[in-house]
Amino acid sequence: MDVTFERGKPRRFDVIVGADGPHSRVRRLIFGPEQKYVTYLGMYIATTDLAQSASDVRSVLLHNSPGRAVAIHPTTGREGAAFIFRNPVLTADAMRDPQQHKQLVMDVYSGMGWRVPELLERFLVSRDFYFDAVSRLRLDGWSRGRAVLIGDAASCVSLFGKGSSMAIIGAATLAEALGSHHEDLATAFDRYEQVHRQRLRRGHRGVLLRVTSARPRDPIRNDHPQ
Ligand SMILES: Cc1cc2nc3c(=O)[nH]c(=O)nc-3n(C[C@H](O)[C@H](O)[C@H](O)COP(=O)(O)OP(=O)(O)OC[C@H]3O[C@@H](n4cnc5c(N)ncnc54)[C@H](O)[C@@H]3O)c2cc1C
Repeated sequence: MDVTFERGKPRRFDVIVGADGPHSRVRRLIFGPEQKYVTYLGMYIATTDLAQSASDVRSVLLHNSPGRAVAIHPTTGREGAAFIFRNPVLTADAMRDPQQHKQLVMDVYSGMGWRVPELLERFLVSRDFYFDAVSRLRLDGWSRGRAVLIGDAASCVSLFGKGSSMAIIGAATLAEALGSHHEDLATAFDRYEQVHRQRLRRGHRGVLLRVTSARPRDPIRNDHPQ
């Protein structure tokens, strides 16, 4: 494949592997715009590092009320906070504006008790935070010609699908397939996709249920007659 770069000279490659995450540019260039493949699952997530060691590296604390949850979780030995909340889909402009992300989180979580005021204060001053929609990405095929996708670029339910493990296993499966069929890329890519899709199907099963049950829309009701 002949590839041109924003910086650097054009080059020719035998194979292009798109491993550039859920908003993959390789995918956009070869398979078309992200909107064709993404389903918004009705929630956003914002995370930030709390700049302190995790007091318990085995526990996640979760506090929620209808439509919004906040978690304090260990991340590589440090403590992180995650805000996960239901919200109508944001415009493309809002998605590009970190100030709007902060404001939205502040608005959604205002008035929530527990440790939320303290976490919001940290979030507000954080210069390094993550914000994205929780979405499912699904393509009918992961390869085109000499290009192939792996990891979140190929398939993901962002946040809920054991994505890191699956990305690594998928890459190993592709490497094995290329090793066995290096003279025939189409067969190698088919083999990779066949094996790995099946694995993902099992992994993603039930994810939607977890997505909704972890962040209920309504308060818990007891509708059962006593
Ligand atoms: C909040 C959150 C929590 C998660 N928790 C877990 C968990 O506990 N366990 C788990 O297994 N998974 C978890 N995941 C999912 C996991 O992070 C992903 O599935 C995994 O990182 C996918 O790996 P990847 O290599 O495909 O993509 P990424 O990790 O996104 O890596 C893509 C890389 O490509 C780079 N890149 C993108 N565009 C370009 C470009 N144009 N040029 C050069 N480089 C580029 C990016 O900078 C990035 O380094 C979580 C995800 C989120 C959002």
